[in-house]
Amino acid sequence: MDELQRYKERLHIALNAAKICIFEVDLTRQLYTFFENAEVIFGVSGDKILKDVRSFQTLDPEAYRRACSEYFSHPDDEDVIQEAFSAVLRGETVTYEARMRAGGSAFVWCRIDAVPIIRDGVPSRMIGVITDIAEQREKTEQLQQAAWMDDFTGLCKKGHAIQQIESILQRRKKETYALIILDIDNFKVFNDTYGHDRGDRIIREVARIMKREFQDTDILSRFGGDEFLIFLPFRQERPQLPAGLEKLIRFEADGLICTNSIGVALYPQDGSDFGELFHRADQALYRAKESKACVVFSSQTGGDE
Ligand code: GH3
Ligand code: MG
Repeated sequence: MDELQRYKERLHIALNAAKICIFEVDLTRQLYTFFENAEVIFGVSGDKILKDVRSFQTLDPEAYRRACSEYFSHPDDEDVIQEAFSAVLRGETVTYEARMRAGGSAFVWCRIDAVPIIRDGVPSRMIGVITDIAEQREKTEQLQQAAWMDDFTGLCKKGHAIQQIESILQRRKKETYALIILDIDNFKVFNDTYGHDRGDRIIREVARIMKREFQDTDILSRFGGDEFLIFLPFRQERPQLPAGLEKLIRFEADGLICTNSIGVALYPQDGSDFGELFHRADQALYRAKESKACVVFSSQTGGDE
């Protein structure tokens, strides 16, 4: 008995240190039968969790899956969890990452390792290990962000923007988009007249307006120097401006009135891939600079010149 007690104590200390909890599900009875050390991740006891989910037992399999999903996991991770659960029912061991909660707690990023126990050729039980990976996730995200974000403006870097745009164009061929290039007018004069620091503040102001006027889901990039790029879904009839763009045509930064010249290319009519769209938007930008027209749509340039 003493030995068992000591074993449990050691296990408890180790699980706490590693922020791990363990559960078991009787798959045939749709019943969680064990939930050890839930407090360390979710702040609620395993007994409470077992009691909460016991009522799901009588549901039909699909409703049971949904009820468990709602109780334990974030809606955005539904697909990952469903895929993992189906794999366990096929007798496969799975590892996946998802945001989890229990007993109404806040969501925590976790890694779940689940092993089916096969009896008479069918998975009858599942043993799972849940590990709190919030800290690792945050560090990884910070590293990823540092790799793609322009520190100076918080916008994404050129390479990352191109990758994102190419991936969107491949996945959503039927949608319509606008690719917009902006370049601050006479920026060299501002730099030379008012100093590099004030020039820096102008660049930051453009980025701030972009973030304020456009959505998180739009691609907002500092393409280099005083050149910026925006890529967004765009359904209006040309040559109407995408909402928010007029705030970037003429703006105030650090007490100075500045203007951008803007070239716009539309997908799919102006190009079928990033390279083509960029080329057309760049031509439109060139025309905007030349004619002092603020904004030029690629369709107004008459194509390749
Ligand atoms: P245009 O109207 O034709 O766009 O001319 P421009 O004077 O704006 O010149 P251009 O766009 O060709 O040059 C951009 C200048 O921006 C060149 C470079 O010295 C300056 N620059 C690039 N990066 C930075 C930066 O981070 N801070 C500051 N202050 N200046 C920068
Ligand atoms: Mg410029």
